Amino acid sequence: MTMHRRRFLQGASLGLPGLAALTSLTACKASATGTTSSEGVIVIGAGISGLAAARHLAGQGEDVVVLEARDRIGGRIWTSEKWAGVPLDLGASWIHGINDNPIAALAEKAKARTVVTNPDSSTDYLADGARAKAIAGWQSKMGDALASYQDDADKDASVRGVVERALGWSSLSEDDKALISFGLNDYEHEYSGSVDQMSALYFDSGADIKGKDVLFPRGYHQITDLLASGLSIRTGQVVKHIDWNSSDVTVGTDTDTFHAGHVVVTLPLGVLQSGAVTFGPGLPASKRTAIDKLGMGVLNKCYLRFPEVFWPDTDWMTYVPNVDEYGQWEQWINITRPTGQPVLLGFNAADFGRTIEGWSDTRIVDSAMGTLKAIFGSGIPAPLGYQITRWASDPYARGSYSYNKIGSTPAMRDHLAASVDDRVHFAGEATHRASYQTVHGAYLSGIRAAKEIAD
Ligand SMILES: Cc1cc2nc3c(=O)[nH]c(=O)nc-3n(C[C@H](O)[C@H](O)[C@H](O)COP(=O)(O)OP(=O)(O)OC[C@H]3O[C@@H](n4cnc5c(N)ncnc54)[C@H](O)[C@@H]3O)c2cc1C
Repeated sequence: MTMHRRRFLQGASLGLPGLAALTSLTACKASATGTTSSEGVIVIGAGISGLAAARHLAGQGEDVVVLEARDRIGGRIWTSEKWAGVPLDLGASWIHGINDNPIAALAEKAKARTVVTNPDSSTDYLADGARAKAIAGWQSKMGDALASYQDDADKDASVRGVVERALGWSSLSEDDKALISFGLNDYEHEYSGSVDQMSALYFDSGADIKGKDVLFPRGYHQITDLLASGLSIRTGQVVKHIDWNSSDVTVGTDTDTFHAGHVVVTLPLGVLQSGAVTFGPGLPASKRTAIDKLGMGVLNKCYLRFPEVFWPDTDWMTYVPNVDEYGQWEQWINITRPTGQPVLLGFNAADFGRTIEGWSDTRIVDSAMGTLKAIFGSGIPAPLGYQITRWASDPYARGSYSYNKIGSTPAMRDHLAASVDDRVHFAGEATHRASYQTVHGAYLSGIRAAKEIAD
C-alpha cells in the first residue's frame, strides 16, 4: 500500500489482545507423522495473522505448531538484509494510522524505531520533467464522481468506467487525460487491483485507522520476530491437503502429516484461488464463492541504490506519464529520509506491476531509469544496485493483497472468515472486513480466529 488511505475509521476499538508473557512452549501435541491427536492447533502460515493466532493460543495454554512453506517467517512482511546496514522492506512498509493500532503497540513493545512519512510531502512531475500542479483538482473530482455513484447506483461498474463517464473522458485534452490516468493509477497503488476490474461500489469499503503513517527504518521484521519468539514454527512445510472429520484435522505437507483438534488457515487469497491446497470434505459454497469473486492484486517494489542523492528532499515523488504509458513508475518514495542512504523506491501496481514480473531485472531497472531520466535529465548516475519484488509470481503469496473486484461484496470477507464445522478456522488480511489489505487487519484476524478456538 502506498499513499495514506482516504477514509477514516469511525470510533474503532482495536485493543491489543494478550501479548501475555510467553517464555516457552511445551512440545506440541499437534505433531508429525505417526502420531494422532484431537488436541492442539495447527496454524498454517507464519505471516502476521498466523503468528498472532499462534501467540494468542499459546498464551491461553494451547499446544500450537505453525507450519510455514518458506524458509523464513513473516510472509508478506519481509525485510531484506542484502545491503549491509540498510534493511529494506520488500513487503509491507507502513503502519497505516498509528492511533489505537495494535501494530503500533507491538512496535512500542519491540522498541522498534519508526519514522513518519507525510503524503502531502510530495514533488510531482509531468512527463517532460515540469512540475505537475493540477493533480489534486482532478483527484477531488474523481472522488466526488465515485462517491455519488456509490450513493445512487444499484449496479456495479469499474472504477475506470465510472470516472471516465463522469468526467467526459472523450472530450478531454491529452494533458487532462494524463492527469486523470495518474489519479486512476493512484487508486491501483492503494488498492492493488486494476481500475478496469475494481468495484466502483465497494473498492473503498474498508475503514481506515486515524493517525500518521509510519515505517520502520530497521525493518518490519521487528514485529514478526517479536510475535514469533518462543513459538513452535516448522519452516519448509508446504501444506498440500487439509482434511477433517468430527473428531480431528489432518494436515498433509509435501513431507509430513500432522494431526490436531483444530487448524487455522492463513493462506493468502491468491493461494486459495490457485487450488494448490485441497480441503477434505470441501468448503461451503459461500466460502468458495468468496474465494472466487474477491480480487488478489499486485503491488511491486524496485529499490535503486545510487552513489549520491539527486532528488528533492520530500517524502514522495510522483510522475504523470503520457496516457500511452499508463501506470508506469508513477510513485516513488525517498528512502534517504528514513535511512540516510541514497536509495529510491519505485512502485508499480496492478496490470503494469504484473506485466514487469515477466521482464528481466535489467529491463526493469532500465525502465525505471527511463522515468528518472525524464524527470532529472540524462546526466543522473547509474544505480549501484537494485532489489526487485515479484509478488504475483510468488507461489506462497500469488499477489500482494486482496481488493474488492466487480462481482464481490463486503459480506464475502465474512464468508471467507467463517469457520467450517468448528474445526477449520480462517484468518489473513483478506478475511478482515474493515481492514483487509493491511498488516493490522491480518493481525486482528489472527486474534479473532484464535479466540474462536480458545473460547
Ligand atoms: C509489496 C507490499 C506492500 C505492502 N505494504 C503494506 C503496508 O505498507 N502496510 C500494510 O499494512 N500492509 C501492507 N501490505 C499488506 C500486508 O503485507 C499484508 O496484508 C499482511 O502482511 C498479510 O499477512 P497474512 O498473515 O494475512 O498473510 P501472509 O503474510 O502472506 O502469511 C501467509 C503465510 O502462509 C504461507 N504459505 C502460503 N502457502 C503455504 C502453503 N501451501 N503451506 C504452508 N504455508 C504457506 C506464506 O509463505 C506466508 O508466510 C503490503 C503487501 C505487499 C506485498
